[in-house]
Amino acid sequence: MDCIFCKIARGEISSAIVHRDDELIAFRDVQPQAPTHVLVIPVRHVETILDLKSADSGLIGRMVLLANELAEKEGLAQNGYRLVFNCKSYGGQAVYHVHLHLLGGRRMTWPPG
Ligand code: 5GP
Ligand code: ZN
Repeated sequence: MDCIFCKIARGEISSAIVHRDDELIAFRDVQPQAPTHVLVIPVRHVETILDLKSADSGLIGRMVLLANELAEKEGLAQNGYRLVFNCKSYGGQAVYHVHLHLLGGRRMTWPPG
């Protein structure tokens, strides 16, 4: 599978992993857009958030809960943070393996560019 995040999940590309279990992995973004920028991904290859089905609602929920847990660990809970799913080209998705961005440590602007 020629997918960069599957390679990270298999350990074929090194990354700063902050969480790993049977279902989810979290690692630091190589090009951070904020002092904390972590990506939460399912181990299973799913291309976009649109490809997730109702059977995956637990998975999506656990991605958000893990991001919250990591935000607490990174000291972001008090000031707040941003969670983002980019979907396809107009959503700004570059890597077609579902990932949740956790961004924090600075004030975010709205709307995003
Ligand atoms: P997207 O634009 O698809 O929502 O976000 C993809 C993210 O993956 C980008 O923020 C990009 O910096 C990050 N990324 C791309 N390739 C790698 C990589 O090889 N290692 C890590 N740690 N992050 C990556
Ligand atoms: Zn993949």
